[in-house]
Amino acid sequence: QLKLTNLVKRFHGQTALDGISLDAEARSLVLIGPSGGGKSTLLRVLAGLELLDQGSVIIDGDPLPSHEEHLISYRRRIGTVFQAYNLFPHLTALENVTLPLVQAQGQQRGEATEYALELLRRFHLEAHAHKMPMELSGGQQQRVAIVRAIAIKPRFLLLDEPTSALDPEMTAEVLDLIAELKGEGRELVLVTHNMGFARRVADHCLFLSGGRILETGNADELFDQPKTTELASFLSRVL
Ligand code: ATP
Ligand code: MG
Repeated sequence: QLKLTNLVKRFHGQTALDGISLDAEARSLVLIGPSGGGKSTLLRVLAGLELLDQGSVIIDGDPLPSHEEHLISYRRRIGTVFQAYNLFPHLTALENVTLPLVQAQGQQRGEATEYALELLRRFHLEAHAHKMPMELSGGQQQRVAIVRAIAIKPRFLLLDEPTSALDPEMTAEVLDLIAELKGEGRELVLVTHNMGFARRVADHCLFLSGGRILETGNADELFDQPKTTELASFLSRVL
C-alpha cells in the first residue's frame, strides 16, 4: 500500500513534482503522461534516489527514510530497471544477477549463483547465463536486468520505460516478462509510453502532467472516458 502526501520536488527552482498525493492499494501502478511531466522523478523518489522538498511517502505504514544512511539500506530493498544500460558491462549475465545478492545481501557466492541460475532458467535465459551484456540483444539484456531486480526479492519493482530503447520484437518479450511478474502478484510501478501495455498491466493508472496527477483510477476508465482535456489530447496523440 502506497500513500503519497503532497510531494514536492524542485530542481534549481523548477518544479518537477507539484503536490502529488495518492492513496493506492493497487499491486501494479502505471504512470503515463507527456514528456517532462514528472514520471521519472516520481519513480526516482520512490527508489530513494531523490530527496523531496516537501511531502511524505508511506509504504505499508513505514515512511520512506529521508536520511542518506537509511536510504542506502532502503534502496537495497527496491528493484529498479531503467530504459537501458542497466547491466554491468564487464560481468556476465549470471554475475550481474549474482552480484547484488552477494554484495548487498551478504549471501554466500555459491548459493547466490545457484539461486541466480534458477531465476535465469525460470525466465528462459539460461542459455545466456555466461554471456557478456554486449553479446545479448537489447531485449535479453533488459530481461536479465529485470531478473536481477527481482532476485533481491524487492519490496517492489520500479520500471522506467524498460522497453523504450528496444525494437518491437524485443519489446514484446520484455513486456511478456513484466506481465508474467504481475501475474505472480508482484508489486510494481511502471512508467510506459506503450498505452496498450499500460492498460494490460495496470491495476491503477496515473496521468501525470506538469508535476501533478491530473487523473487517476482504473486504466479502462482513464482510457475510455478521459475527464480532462489534457488526458484526452494526450491519448489522441499517442494512441
Ligand atoms: P519523459 O517522458 O520525457 O521521460 P518524465 O515525465 O519522466 O518525462 P521527468 O524526468 O520526471 O519527466 O522530469 C520532470 C521535470 O523535472 C522536467 O522539467 C525535467 O527537466 C526536470 N528534471 C528532472 N530531473 C532533473 C534533474 N536531475 N535536474 C534538473 N531538472 C530535472
Ligand atoms: Mg522519464
